[in-house]
Parts: sequence; structure tokens; C-alpha cells
Amino acid sequence: MGSVGNTDTIVSLPDNQNAWSCSSLPATTDRKPVTEQHVSDLRKALKELDEGSILLVPGDDGYEDSLRRWSRAAEKRAGAVLLLKTPSAIAKALRYASEHTIDLAVRGGGHSTAGASSTSGGLVIDLSSMRSVTVDSTAKTLAVQGGAQWSDVDDAAWEHGLATVGGTVADTGVGGLTLGGGYGWLSGTHGLVIDNLISCEIVLASGEVVRASKDENADLFWALRGGGQNFGVVTEFILQAWKQDNVWAGVMLFPTEKLADILDVLNEIILEMRGRGACVLGFSRPPPAGGQVLIIIAVFYDGTEEEGRARFQRLLDLGPIMNTATSVPYNSVNRMLHVPQGRRVSMKGASFTLPLRFDFVKSTMDAYAQFTSEVPHSQESLLLYEIFEPGKICEVANHEMSFANRGRRMNAMVGPMWTSPEHDARSRAWAREVADMFKAELSRSKGSDGKGEGLGVYGNYDQYDEKSRDVFGGNYARLQELKARYDAGNMFNKLFSVAPAV
Ligand SMILES: Cc1cc2nc3c(=O)[nH]c(=O)nc-3n(C[C@H](O)[C@H](O)[C@H](O)COP(=O)(O)OP(=O)(O)OC[C@H]3O[C@@H](n4cnc5c(N)ncnc54)[C@H](O)[C@@H]3O)c2cc1C
Repeated sequence: MGSVGNTDTIVSLPDNQNAWSCSSLPATTDRKPVTEQHVSDLRKALKELDEGSILLVPGDDGYEDSLRRWSRAAEKRAGAVLLLKTPSAIAKALRYASEHTIDLAVRGGGHSTAGASSTSGGLVIDLSSMRSVTVDSTAKTLAVQGGAQWSDVDDAAWEHGLATVGGTVADTGVGGLTLGGGYGWLSGTHGLVIDNLISCEIVLASGEVVRASKDENADLFWALRGGGQNFGVVTEFILQAWKQDNVWAGVMLFPTEKLADILDVLNEIILEMRGRGACVLGFSRPPPAGGQVLIIIAVFYDGTEEEGRARFQRLLDLGPIMNTATSVPYNSVNRMLHVPQGRRVSMKGASFTLPLRFDFVKSTMDAYAQFTSEVPHSQESLLLYEIFEPGKICEVANHEMSFANRGRRMNAMVGPMWTSPEHDARSRAWAREVADMFKAELSRSKGSDGKGEGLGVYGNYDQYDEKSRDVFGGNYARLQELKARYDAGNMFNKLFSVAPAV
């Protein structure tokens, strides 16, 4: 066992802990770092339980790997990392952390760029050994363990001709994505991931293991669907699945001169598809194109090749210089977007409404071109517009779950990628600048009073400056009441922390 006395070193500053802000993380917390005594106690308790738990501290084989997160800029040096496999082991660890007021982080898929699944000197509960998915093909339900990734879900469901709404990138975690809302290619027809969530098994701060659904602990279930990172460790998600056939999907590349024509087409055709079609419009500098900026469009149609081609014919007529769209099994779609590993990455959310205005989108494209030419190794940065008909999502009112961002606004994502800590500040500043451009555009467009448009803040994308009240809006007060009941000591405080009501 290595030393745990001197671990409080922040190796990098995640999005919300930098010179400008400290928002979705609490500014200070009275929770304590892990000590030698804690490690010794936990090791003994977990050994007695004999459920294959692993405890890692600095110096142990595997410790450094266990700190890895999707963004290198979101990694921190934990005092100890627990790789746990069962609700009872998690219960034991949580009870101990509660009693000793230890700072705690829970790691699902590790994709939070804000460092919400990391802790400096505290205890990490790592769920990456809990990835199984059990399919009930008769009931069309999926029982998904709390550390699963979306590829686990999509692959298991597809074997039975089923699918559910899930993340668009294979290795993103089910845990964080679901508990914060969850958008995916099937959102146009089946809503958010939380709209397909039937129940959860959750270990509370007290160590109690409970189920939450519409019929059992219904208020907790309300809280979990949007503000879920605040209430415990979810060990199992039961998700509704749907019969699924092949879909028509792929990636197209266009030269930037086609932007005006592309916007004319997309402003019309996507809404006409009534939720079955969607696309992600972005900018890219693919190496085969010599690093020049190109327009990239990932297209998706839940139907046959013939239907997909017909629906996107006007886009195809614009003559993409590359087009991979074809009929594919649904479970391959989440591997369609190539997202590199091992970079420093930041993620700033933004929102927009249709129609997209040429001058505005062009200005964001120019900003992308400038940033990626100035900051070394930033060519894989992302600036994405997610376009689909959100009518299905709007069928649920914003007060029905703690998630408060339903509306006609669509999500955009500004994702600088770079390699050296010396460019952290510049890269994050760029993401803020572009997000501000989106805000200015929204306020000049019709309906900018926000009525019927949702808050325009998707917490899972926007883990920078936004505060919990920005993300939960009118639902924040009820979350505070429930927080006081389920986690009065605010142990689960790493992402859009909810202050317990007093
Ligand atoms: C490449 C990429 C693609 C993405 N694509 C999408 C997309 O298609 N749709 C979308 O809606 N969002 C998407 N996102 C955003 C994504 O929803 C968030 O990054 C989310 O936080 C990822 O969850 P995670 O479990 O991987 O992250 P983690 O960093 O492990 O966790 C994030 C937060 O959730 C908590 N958490 C995780 N699992 C559990 C659990 N089982 N119980 C309790 N708390 C838990 C953590 O404690 C932490 O607070 C994407 C992000 C990336 C980086």
C-alpha cells in the first residue's frame, strides 16, 4: 500500500475550477481527504465482505490507470479508489464515507469534463466493473448495471432486435448521461433517456439500498431524472426498449462554400421528418483533407435505406465530397462519430433554434477555424449543432421530472481539444466565447423570452459556469427538499450540487 498522506495535488483544473469560475462544483466543502486509517478500515471491511472489491492507493499497480478520465484535464489524484462490484460493497463504503465525512466521487463512464467523477485526495467509487446488461425480450426491458457504457447497452439490446434511447458515442457512461437527462439518435421518437427509465436501484448516503420508480419512492425517482448525481450511487437502471430495425446513417463531408445551401436544406428537411431523422452539423479538419476546415454532417434516419435517402435527398443533391451513409445495424451507430482519446478536452453547452441563420453559423465556423489554427494540436476540436424535431421530448412538462430543459431549443456543443496544460485557459476561453455567440444569437431571434423553449442549459454538456439553479430552474426548490431527506450531509456534491433545504 502506498502513502495516502500527501495526495491533495490537483494535476489539472477541470472546466469549473479555473480562474473564472467555480460553479457546478461547490466552492468549498467540509468533506475530508482519505487517511491511512480510512484505507485500513475500508480494506478490512471489504475483505470481510469478500465480493471481489479492489482498493487502490497511490503507488499501487493500477492506481494511475484508475485516475484516467475521458478528458485528461478532468483527472485528479484520489486518496483511494474503490473498484466495487455489488450494492452491498457500495453500501459499506458509503456508510463509512458518511460516518467519516470523506470527500467522495462516483465514476461511471468517466466522461465528465468538469472532473465530476474525480476527487483530489478523497475516495472514488469506481463502477467500471459493473457493466452487465440483461435483456428481457418479452417485456422489452434492459437491466443495466450502473457502470455500463452505451456500447454495452446497444450491443446487448440489438441481439434481441431491440434498442433504447442512448448516447451517441459508444464509450460514454450510462450513469452520468442518464442521471442528467440523456439525448440520443432516438430522442425524436422516444424522448430523452430518462423518459425511458422505468426504475433504478440506488444506494443512498446512509448505505440503504432502495428502488425508485413511479410506484416506489416516487419523489426520489422524480429527483433522479435530471438531478440524479446528487442522491446516491445507482447500481441498476431498468430501461424501456423498443423494437428496432437497421437504420440509415453515416457521415458526409462538404466544403465550407456549401454552408448556405446546407443550412437552407437542413432548416426545412429535419423538422419534416417528424422525429425519425436527425443530424449533427459540425466542423472538422480531417487529416486526409490536408487539415483544411470542412463541414461534417452525421445523418440518421430510423428507416430503410430507401426512406433515408429519400428524406435526405436534397442534402445528397448538394454533392458531399465524402458520404458513408448506408443501412446499418442500430448498435453500430454509436461508433459513427470518431472521438479521439487521451486529449485535454472541455465541453461547453449552448443552444439554438431553427432556422439556423447563415451569418451566425458562418461566424462560429470562422471562430472554429481561427482557434484550431492558433492552438497547437487542437485540430480535432468539436463544434456541433444537434438538429432534430424535439416534439416528443416536449410531451413531458418541465415539472414532471427534475430535468428542466425541455423545449424547442436544441443543443450545441463546443468542445475544444488540446494537449498541453499551458493552453487550458485559452481553450476554455474560446469555448466560452463561442457559447456567448450562441446566447447573442438566441436573444436576437424570435421567441427569445424563453417561453416554451426550456432553459436552454443542458447540464451534461454545460459544466462550466452554470449554477445548479440555472440547470434545474423552477425544480431547484423541490430538489433541495429531497436532498435534505436523502443526502443531508451533501456527500454527492460533485456536479450541480443541490444545497439541502434547512
Ligand atoms: C464523447 C462524449 C459524447 C457524449 N455524447 C452524449 C450524448 O450523445 N447524449 C448526451 O445526452 N450526453 C452526451 N455526452 C455528455 C454526457 O452525458 C456527460 O459527459 C455525462 O456526464 C457522462 O456520464 P459518465 O458516466 O460517462 O461520466 P462520469 O464522469 O463517470 O460521471 C458524470 C457524473 O455522473 C455521476 N455518475 C455516473 N454514474 C453514476 C451512477 N451509476 N450513480 C450515480 N452517479 C453516477 C458521477 O458521479 C458524476 O457526477 C457526451 C459526452 C462526451 C464526452
